[in-house]
Amino acid sequence: MRQLPAVSRVLQDRRVQDAIAVHGRQLVVDCVREVLNRLREHLQKGSAVATDLPSIVSEVLQAVECWRTPTLRRVINATGVVLHTGLGRAVLAQAARRAVTEVAQGHSMLEVDRDTGERGDRIEHVRDLLCRLTGAEDATVVNNNAGAVLLAVTVLAQGKEVIISRGQLVEIGGAFRMPDIIAQSGAKLVEVGTTNRTRLSDYEQAITSDTALLLRCHPSNFRIVGFTEEVSAEELVSLAHRYGLAVLDDVGSGCLVDTAQFGLEHEPTLQESVQAGCDIVTCSGDKLLGGPQAGIILGRRQVVQRIRKHPLHRALRVDKLTLAALEATLRLYLNPDEAQREIPVLRTLAMSVGEVRRRANRLRRRLQATLPSGTVTVRLRDGLSAVGGGSLPGQQLGTVLVCLRSPEISAQQLAHALRWQEPAVFVRIEQEEVLIDPRTLLDDELDALVRAIDRAVVRCTGGKTNHARCGQSGD
Ligand SMILES: *Cc1c(COP(=O)(O)O)cnc(C)c1O
Repeated sequence: MRQLPAVSRVLQDRRVQDAIAVHGRQLVVDCVREVLNRLREHLQKGSAVATDLPSIVSEVLQAVECWRTPTLRRVINATGVVLHTGLGRAVLAQAARRAVTEVAQGHSMLEVDRDTGERGDRIEHVRDLLCRLTGAEDATVVNNNAGAVLLAVTVLAQGKEVIISRGQLVEIGGAFRMPDIIAQSGAKLVEVGTTNRTRLSDYEQAITSDTALLLRCHPSNFRIVGFTEEVSAEELVSLAHRYGLAVLDDVGSGCLVDTAQFGLEHEPTLQESVQAGCDIVTCSGDKLLGGPQAGIILGRRQVVQRIRKHPLHRALRVDKLTLAALEATLRLYLNPDEAQREIPVLRTLAMSVGEVRRRANRLRRRLQATLPSGTVTVRLRDGLSAVGGGSLPGQQLGTVLVCLRSPEISAQQLAHALRWQEPAVFVRIEQEEVLIDPRTLLDDELDALVRAIDRAVVRCTGGKTNHARCGQSGD
């Protein structure tokens, strides 16, 4: 143990003093202690570690740098999954990004009435827009769609029974489980039908004097194929209203446009659910709608007003940055052509295979000119992109993949090295090949992608795959 310098000795080092000037004393002192403790443990275990002062100082500086560097950073999505929940779902339109910056930079008209100067309501920034775009009587917004469903079921059915088809008892988007949401809202779940077939008569037979709600949920991340039968929103509404019950439709992805125009199947739209007469319709803001994370609630005025007065509405309140992004995104939809041009999710879905092929060819040429010869072979092949993010399950878009294969580097190794580049790159692996899908690349990412692949290949072929990582330095 005598080999290790004292904390005070490390703090006297010139580079450490400079770090204190930049980052403050407390953080640097803590990092010195942490590094020395870690080295002490290694020495106790008999591991060989460098204990000279310059090595220790380098580790300290690296530890300080790690604490000061954000971990939530931009990455390149080369997976071809358009709405990738792990990679943050929808990329915001420029108008939405600008709105967020503007509202973040100063005070804003979040909750004031401009006319009277009195306190207003934050939802007013999007309420009329949502009504105009969907035909709903009234609307509100909460933190996310899981919150929207929890709130709506609580208001409509607490202490009562909720009937749902067994084919719609879904789990979506990382632990959103319909049965758990219903239990949490204090309602009793009544399952009807079977996994693949549910008829209107199944619902009708389950209605009792305790029933309050018929719940529909778009099974948005899986598909049942073969002999299937579901009840349409219209049929369910007419049954519910005959018995004085409400219908809640969780449509999931919040689509406002016809996805058939992208060569995909038609995804149920918000307008259709509203038109069918559902009392409440909910969806996410950051799926096909292409906005920020949010839970959008549309429906009959009287029900939406009850929802807005419920304490959970306050608990699930939407943030001003989210509202700014959502408002700007929705305003783009007032001109559908502009929405298509400006909203990245729609642009990515609308991209033709010809355009993807042009991008793939450009990327291949750049890589072949850049990568050290003989290290990696680059070829193109036809493939599929996925929509992801709880929409259009099982449906895929034609694409052209750029495939990387190396005699020396495994696909896993290369993918790992790519994730540790700056910016990090996320790819798919299939049959020992790294696959880059140009569909989900943004317009300005080609240069950064080529550089990242180049550096990752050099790193792997240089025999160094141990990237210095926060919390793991020295391990
Ligand atoms: C994605 C999804 C949810 C969860 O939405 P979040 O906004 O992620 O909370 C709920 N229901 C359906 C049908 C979904 O597709």
